Amino acid sequence: MEKNKNKENMRMIIDPALPQWKGNFHCHTTGSDGWVSPREAAAQYRAAGYDFLAITDHRRVTDPAEAETDLLLIPGIELDYRVETGHAQAVHIVGVGVDRDALDIPAAMRTPQQGVDAIRASGGRAIFAHPAWSLNDPETIKGLKNLSAVEIYNRCSDFPWNARRADSSEVIDLCFADGFHLPIVAADDAHQYNGDQCHSAVIACAAACTREGILDALDKGNVYGSQGPRIKEMKMENGALSIRCTPCRKVIFYSDAIYSRERTVAGEAITEARYQALPRETYLRVEIEDAEGRRAWSSPVRV
Ligand SMILES: [Zn+2]
Ligand SMILES: [Zn+2]
Repeated sequence: MEKNKNKENMRMIIDPALPQWKGNFHCHTTGSDGWVSPREAAAQYRAAGYDFLAITDHRRVTDPAEAETDLLLIPGIELDYRVETGHAQAVHIVGVGVDRDALDIPAAMRTPQQGVDAIRASGGRAIFAHPAWSLNDPETIKGLKNLSAVEIYNRCSDFPWNARRADSSEVIDLCFADGFHLPIVAADDAHQYNGDQCHSAVIACAAACTREGILDALDKGNVYGSQGPRIKEMKMENGALSIRCTPCRKVIFYSDAIYSRERTVAGEAITEARYQALPRETYLRVEIEDAEGRRAWSSPVRV
C-alpha cells in the first residue's frame, strides 16, 4: 500500500533518459540592430557548441536561409511595447517558431496580448523577455495569456552592455507565488557580439533536436536556463525535490516561502541535492552555480 502511494507521488521533471539540447532563443543581427550578419551569428553559435538558434530581430522575421548554416535555426522575432501603469514599462515579447508569411506584424504591434496572439496564430511560441530590465511588475506578466516561457536571465541586460538588470528572478518569483507559473529560459539577447553572445542558453530536453522537438519541449515545460552547469535529473517525490547535476558549489531551492532554513547547499563539488518542501510552499525551483560562478535555473515545480 505504502509502496504504491510512493510510486504515485513521484514526478520526473527532468528525465535523464531524454537528450538535452543547448540553444539560444534570443539574438539580433544586421536584420535589426545587431552588429553581425545572420550568417556570422549562426557561425559563432555553431562554433560554441549550440544545437539550435532563433534569430529574433526587432519587428522583423529574418529569413533563416540568410544564415547559410547547418545549425538548426528556428525563425523568430522580438516585438516591443510601452505600457503605462503609474510608471513606464517596456514589454518585449520574443516569438520563436513563427511562420514568416503568416505573422501579421502590424496587427501584432498593437498590444502585448495581440503580439502573443499573432505569434501563436502563426504557429510560434511567445516568451516574455527580460522583465527586470523592462521594469515590469508581476501584474504586467500575469496579465498576458498564452505565454510559453519567461527569461530569468538576459545577458545583454548585464554589465557592460547595459545596467546590471539581467537577473529577473525576483519578479518571476512574485508571479510564481501567485500561482502564475511559466517555464524558465536564459538568453543572450546578443547585439554586439563582443561577449554578449554564446553565453546563456535554454536547455531543451527532447528526443530529437528538430524544430518540432524543441517547441514541444517548451510546451511541456521540459526546459531550463543555463550558463554552463547541467541539471541531469530532477524529480519530485513525496513532497521533496531532488536533483542530480554537474559539479556545483551552490544549490538554492527557491519557493514562495520567505524563510526556509534548509534551502541552500554549499560545497566543493556537489552533484546531488534534495529539499523537502515545507507545508506552506506551493512551488519550488532550483538554481545551481558552478566554481566559475556560472548558473543554471530550473523551471518551477508545483508542490
Ligand atoms: Zn528586448
Ligand atoms: Zn532583444
